[in-house]
Amino acid sequence: MADKLFLIVPCYNEEEVLPETAKRLREKYTALIGAGLISPESRVVFVNDGSRDSTWQIIQELHRSDAMFSGIDLAHNSGHQNAVLAGLMTVRDICDVSITMDADLQDDINAIDEMLVKYYEGNHVVYGVRSARKTDTFFKRFTARSFYRFMKLMGADVVYDHADFRLMSARVLRELAGFREVNLFLRGLVPLIGFQSCKVYYERHERFAGKSKYPLGKMLSFAINGITSFSTKPLKLITAIGFIMSAISAAAIIWAFVVKLLGHSELGWSSTMCSIWFIGGIQILALGIIGEYVGKIYAEVKQRPRYIVAEFLNDIGGNEIAEKDS
Ligand code: UDP
Ligand code: MG
Repeated sequence: MADKLFLIVPCYNEEEVLPETAKRLREKYTALIGAGLISPESRVVFVNDGSRDSTWQIIQELHRSDAMFSGIDLAHNSGHQNAVLAGLMTVRDICDVSITMDADLQDDINAIDEMLVKYYEGNHVVYGVRSARKTDTFFKRFTARSFYRFMKLMGADVVYDHADFRLMSARVLRELAGFREVNLFLRGLVPLIGFQSCKVYYERHERFAGKSKYPLGKMLSFAINGITSFSTKPLKLITAIGFIMSAISAAAIIWAFVVKLLGHSELGWSSTMCSIWFIGGIQILALGIIGEYVGKIYAEVKQRPRYIVAEFLNDIGGNEIAEKDS
């Protein structure tokens, strides 16, 4: 008997793409069931992340016309990562294996076959990795690459060019439930869980329709969140700069003292101003970074629910897991 696959698709204002996505997923599932790769009880679970358009109505309609489709409606927009988590935590005890995928068809549906093959070979996590970035603009490509490099440099273990197109077994999902952090960065968390994993390469397509829900501002805050959630290197760097600065100022004080003793004590106004500005800048930077961490402690201490489910569609509803975990 083939395993039950639950596909988690976060949707935020995706009315333009959803009907097409659903159509292609239906075809894919029919083929996968036919090939004996997944059980006929497999589902596609759309997570509506507080959309303001007709996304939820479309999901309800899909569910009515085809039992393969199901849905979760979040009470408010919680962000892509939390929407994915809401889906995964809801299905973790009713599926054998899960795959997370964007709604906009940028992730290649045809990579699912290979992911499943790898899963049956014994992998608990299969990362979908982009083989090409032809469709991205130069700017997007550059910022994305720099992001992965910087993350590595800062000590966060992320898979290069892997976004959130990922297969995880139910076992991994149960372990994931043990991570209680509020600042969620799944790309950093999943490698931490461990278990046998591998990569599947796919070509990333253009968004099928609609606009990206990740403007530059959101992307930057995502990157900062990723680094500060997984690494204390920035803090250590500040300490190092602090040491170097103290050494330099010690030398400068001795020098100033010597100059004074020699009787040429007219120190330049500009050098004084420069050092005041420089030290001021370093201090503000240091405070900023410390503040970043203090902010995280604040968020973790509050232990707010990471998402609140407003409604389950009946075939996956009644599952108390989501309630317990939210
Ligand atoms: N998304 C979401 N909540 C948000 C923003 C985005 O659930 O607050 C979903 C969105 O519907 C899509 C996926 O996350 O399925 C990735 O978003 P998008 O395609 O806009 O990002 P990009 O591919 O441009 O990085
Ligand atoms: Mg996209």
